[in-house]
Amino acid sequence: MAGETIVMETYDVAVIGAGIHGAGVAQAVAAGGHSVLVFEQNGIASGTSSRSSKLIHGGLRYLESRQIGLVRECLNERRLLLRLAPELVRLVPFFIPIYHQTRRRPWQLHIGLSLYRWLSGDPSGRYGTVPRSRWPDLDGITTSGLESVFRYHDAQTDDAALTRAVVQAAQELGADLRVPARFSSVELEPHGCLIEYQENGQTQCCRAAVLVNAAGPAVNQILGRCLPQPAPEAIELVQGTHIVLDAPFRQGCYYIEAPHDGRAVFVMPWQSDRLLIGTTEVGIPEGAEPTPTEAEIAYLQETASHYFPALGACAVSEAFAGARVLPAGDGHAFGRPRDTRLVTDREDKPRMLTIYGGKLTAYRITAEKVMAQIAPSLPERDAVADTRTMPLRPAGG
Ligand SMILES: Cc1cc2nc3c(=O)[nH]c(=O)nc-3n(C[C@H](O)[C@H](O)[C@H](O)COP(=O)(O)OP(=O)(O)OC[C@H]3O[C@@H](n4cnc5c(N)ncnc54)[C@H](O)[C@@H]3O)c2cc1C
Repeated sequence: MAGETIVMETYDVAVIGAGIHGAGVAQAVAAGGHSVLVFEQNGIASGTSSRSSKLIHGGLRYLESRQIGLVRECLNERRLLLRLAPELVRLVPFFIPIYHQTRRRPWQLHIGLSLYRWLSGDPSGRYGTVPRSRWPDLDGITTSGLESVFRYHDAQTDDAALTRAVVQAAQELGADLRVPARFSSVELEPHGCLIEYQENGQTQCCRAAVLVNAAGPAVNQILGRCLPQPAPEAIELVQGTHIVLDAPFRQGCYYIEAPHDGRAVFVMPWQSDRLLIGTTEVGIPEGAEPTPTEAEIAYLQETASHYFPALGACAVSEAFAGARVLPAGDGHAFGRPRDTRLVTDREDKPRMLTIYGGKLTAYRITAEKVMAQIAPSLPERDAVADTRTMPLRPAGG
């Protein structure tokens, strides 16, 4: 309109999504002394980042698909998070029972756990076997056909609480969070982005040097709203369901092998007197909301009660599902790479970066890699903090 001045906010970086990746990127950008705005359409951690297995781990099973670099990197991040967020991330004992019919044999477990310990760089992270005389203490595990039980340590968290803590840390460094605010579109200009979003029923605009697409399973839908449109990666969404039972386990987490297909399933103490059991792997179409199916719930119940017969009598009090973003490919989702892929709209001075896939555990190092890729597009600023040494407190604490 003639004569009207539109004041448009300008940021160094804008981020779509306040899941763990959006939160981590906001923290890293703000720590680097840059201005950052985060849009979240629903709530902090309302997507996959509240529906994970809640483990801060290297991923013992990824050794089977030889993802050694990923396991080492995640174990390194586990060590950091145990130090930086002791109220949110804690080590717990894990048990792996081996029966006559278990596909993974004791010698394989010895190799895997030795390698896992070596990759963790922590010589005190010993593993061992539970003496037969202690088997009756193992939360009612069936001992018929049991050959041995391995014990090692890994870490558990509350994924949504961790995400909120990282958002809080970013806000303390000056990050601007808009919730609920929905990203609508972006125009990629020669030297930055013109972004449109919806907030309070109104269309708003802002500018940023770089837009980071951390929309989780919606990443490719976001790319469809960019002008010009960057080429989307071919992905598959794979749903993972967990069930919650009102049953307390005393000793720790169990890593069991589903009797039907040999997949690894976790049975984990959750919120002091409950059990979290997961997960499954079921392909879903892009854009679909992950929703637990009856077949997945039955599969998890049957798997858990096969090893812990008393659980057969426990009702499922809750079930939830999240979607993994995996590279499209042949074969079972189990063996597909689980590392994060960062894709920019152009090599030199990117205006947009998209985060595909990834691990809750690796969010901080992922954010560091994002910063390294977008740095050429950002103005020079003095860093104000270092995410390798910044403590994380529960939000509101
Ligand atoms: C079943 C399952 C179990 C897992 N277990 C583990 C585990 O134990 N340990 C581990 O390390 N990793 C685990 N992972 C991986 C980990 O959970 C994910 O990598 C991580 O949570 C993904 O976070 P994200 O921020 O990329 O996505 P999300 O958490 O999905 O966040 C994306 C956000 O973007 C928002 N958004 C989308 N579109 C828009 C828009 N237009 N405008 C504004 N906001 C928008 C969404 O509302 C959402 O909040 C698991 C994953 C699954 C599926």
